[in-house]
Amino acid sequence: MICPVCKHAMIVVEHRNIELDYCHNCKGVWFDSGELELLLKSQGLEEPKAFFDGIFNSQEASSPEEKRKCPICGRKMKKTAIGGQPEILIDVCRDKHGLWFDRGEVAQLIKSLAEEHPPKHHPKGHVIGFLKEIFEASQ
Ligand SMILES: [Zn+2]
Ligand SMILES: [Zn+2]
Repeated sequence: MICPVCKHAMIVVEHRNIELDYCHNCKGVWFDSGELELLLKSQGLEEPKAFFDGIFNSQEASSPEEKRKCPICGRKMKKTAIGGQPEILIDVCRDKHGLWFDRGEVAQLIKSLAEEHPPKHHPKGHVIGFLKEIFEASQ
């Protein structure tokens, strides 16, 4: 798959049977919807669909950032703000193919989730742990 930002070929990073596409050049990450759903389910989130719909149906954020194209369908993605303060602006495919995080945005997400201090057995706590492991392994 080709990076939607810098057009370099992305590499597949596998961790605990979940695959992510990672761009070594710009350090962006593509989360395929199917893989993200597997991740959430494996971490004990019962209703990943509700979580997804929340992200995919959220309002488009205005941003001076250039619009990226989905690496799967090539359509322009929508910018959406997630997380608390400061907001994290990610790109999502309108056809729900997946989510794109620019360099540093995953780290920011981990930080904002961690600040909510979810208990370790809570799905959010597991997702944070999973993301940390991946990012410590791949960088
Ligand atoms: Zn790139
Ligand atoms: Zn798409």
